[in-house]
Amino acid sequence: NKMVSAVQALGNIRVFCRCRPLSKGEISAGCTMFTDFDAAKDGCLGIQTSGSTKKSFKFDRVYTPKDDQVDVFADASPMVTSVLDGYNVCIFAYGQTGTGKTFTMEGTEQNRGVNYRTLEHLFNIAKERSETFTYNISVSVLEVYNEQIRDLLAMTPTSKKLEIKQASEGFCHVPGIVEAKVDNIWEAWSVLQAGSNARAVGSNNVNEHSSRSHCMLCIMVRAKNLMNGECTKSKLWLVDLAGSERLAKTEVQGERLKEAQNINRSLSALGDVISALATKSSHIPYRNSKLTHLLQDSLGGDSKTLMFVQISPSDQDLGETLSSLNFASRVR
Ligand code: ADP
Ligand code: MG
Repeated sequence: NKMVSAVQALGNIRVFCRCRPLSKGEISAGCTMFTDFDAAKDGCLGIQTSGSTKKSFKFDRVYTPKDDQVDVFADASPMVTSVLDGYNVCIFAYGQTGTGKTFTMEGTEQNRGVNYRTLEHLFNIAKERSETFTYNISVSVLEVYNEQIRDLLAMTPTSKKLEIKQASEGFCHVPGIVEAKVDNIWEAWSVLQAGSNARAVGSNNVNEHSSRSHCMLCIMVRAKNLMNGECTKSKLWLVDLAGSERLAKTEVQGERLKEAQNINRSLSALGDVISALATKSSHIPYRNSKLTHLLQDSLGGDSKTLMFVQISPSDQDLGETLSSLNFASRVR
């Protein structure tokens, strides 16, 4: 039993691994689970790589297919609270298409995900603190596709390229993007819906398009301490990354090849940034992709990062699963 130790309690960088259930299709196709959750409570995940060989991976948390959205958010919520204390936070979901990145982040109407629960949590805590703080919360929704940023809240699509600028206070921002002020969860939810509807416009296959682009929700919190008048500004990114799967060689041509290269480039750039942070390297290569550049002020420094590594339990996906678990292990 080889122990591949991934991220543990690294303070500001945390990795949670979540495994979805086998789908009906997989069950009827006779797929079996190669995942072992015996020590999931201790953050250990076992993977049966072949017959009797087992590999173990260690994470800050391991969620089995039985764990639900409430269990997941219970562990993520302290990070969300810290945004109201002035920290920048970045939460993202990494993994092969079909492993539950969108389920974890967006969720469904019956099974709300991290995005909705985060906003709800922010409004609840803001209300609890209303005697000592006033909070102003706004939301932007962006998509990064082929290294181009698209504002999903823009009323009229513009051909003008959106660029990232370094603001004076060390903040990164994208001049011209919509920041929608939201005062409660209902307003916030309708903004998220608008963003998600805009994402579908102009693509003939919504699911395919969304698996090849990064969907990035930015929540900006401006706080004023009513006791001493101090103002702070912090940022929370919630990111549903493009699918991490490698494509079959035969598939990779033309436009598809360019997409695949851009996805690879940005996901490796993300891996490079996080592993540089984890090893306390003096140079953090933020500028190698739009994704990492956008997240720059929320990755590193005293910001907090949470990565969900999403995996499939099916033996058919073993290769991609190992590749995702190894990606997560690089963070150490
Ligand atoms: P991705 O965004 O990574 O491509 P999805 O979030 O679209 O994957 O998930 C693929 C399918 O699996 C969806 O039908 C989703 O509802 C289901 N699913 C994913 N994770 C879970 C889970 N933890 N519990 C139940 N169903 C899940
Ligand atoms: Mg998805």
